[in-house]
Amino acid sequence: MSGILVIGEVQDGAIAPVSGELVAAALKLVGEGVIGGVSLAVMGDDLSAITAADAPGADRLILMSHPSLRDGGTGGFDAPVLAVAALYESISPDVILFAKTDFGAVAGPRLAFRLGVGMAQDCIDLALDTGTGRVAVTRPVFGGNALAVYGFNGDGTQIATVRPGAFDGMEGEGTGAIEHFDVGAAVAGVRTTLIDTVLQASEGVRLEDAEIIISGGRGLGGPEPFKQLHELANLLGGAVGASRAACDAGWVDHSYQIGLTGKSVRPSVYLSVGISGASQHMAGLSGARNIVAINKDGDANIFKAARFGVVGDWAKVLPAFTATVRDLAG
Ligand SMILES: Cc1cc2nc3c(=O)[nH]c(=O)nc-3n(C[C@H](O)[C@H](O)[C@H](O)COP(=O)(O)OP(=O)(O)OC[C@H]3O[C@@H](n4cnc5c(N)ncnc54)[C@H](O)[C@@H]3O)c2cc1C
Repeated sequence: MSGILVIGEVQDGAIAPVSGELVAAALKLVGEGVIGGVSLAVMGDDLSAITAADAPGADRLILMSHPSLRDGGTGGFDAPVLAVAALYESISPDVILFAKTDFGAVAGPRLAFRLGVGMAQDCIDLALDTGTGRVAVTRPVFGGNALAVYGFNGDGTQIATVRPGAFDGMEGEGTGAIEHFDVGAAVAGVRTTLIDTVLQASEGVRLEDAEIIISGGRGLGGPEPFKQLHELANLLGGAVGASRAACDAGWVDHSYQIGLTGKSVRPSVYLSVGISGASQHMAGLSGARNIVAINKDGDANIFKAARFGVVGDWAKVLPAFTATVRDLAG
């Protein structure tokens, strides 16, 4: 066994950015001594637009194309798991990495069960334990209040899902080899078929990709103020997020939720409005570079993490701020 197999994801026929984050995690392990190189595998029914240049950092890009792997394999789990299991038999990697996305969080454990090997979910860091030669993973525990480091028992393949945003994605152009892996025989026995995919309509920048996020919490008092957050986000080319309290109240959809049980984001600027900064919310912000907070309670936890803060009523502070941004935007 050797090497690291990264199971990337495909979005609109192209390699999704989260795949580059997984390659970065894999390269960290290579830098620490894992041998055998990094293989990035992606799957879908039509991968014809993908080239090796799309996989910076990977030693080889493995394409698994098959009609049953529609929507990048995210439409069902039988076929992707069978496809990756076949690839595993072929290349025997030491480590397999998935992203902790809707796809990876389900496909990873299924693969681990099928292979009878250990797996760790939701890792925010990976390191080589030089004593054992095995991977040590860091995961948030106790609702994000603490971090724990885990190792894998035995000597089998180690599977981990990595939290999106935990690593910076790769940039530049890939120069590795490109290979096609035939999964026809592997997926022949698949028992479920994806019939249809219904996409939820969304506007503007995706939260996960946004450089600027304006996020609202219970302190906003209702759904109406989110219009002001959207207005500011539009002016700044950013996206709107929310705390779980705001989502649970039905003010915005749960797809807006940031935190332990929501999305992990890594914007340059995260403007939190009426959010207390509970640890479960902050768990989604470990990659945020600058947190700016508006909260009327000067003791709110969010101020411990904020680079800039305004202690005050958002209803007075935010409109003035938005007006200034509008003026500057001209
Ligand atoms: C297992 C588990 C998982 C969880 N996962 C998540 C998660 O993924 N994401 C998440 O967000 N939470 C999560 N939570 C919930 C979390 O613990 C908090 O309850 C939640 O984040 C609180 O949201 P909030 O900050 O909007 O509300 P609150 O904690 O009620 O804070 C509201 C803030 O608004 C301020 N405020 C009020 N009025 C104004 C005003 N006029 N102007 C300015 N400020 C004002 C208040 O001072 C207060 O600080 C989870 C909890 C558990 C147990």
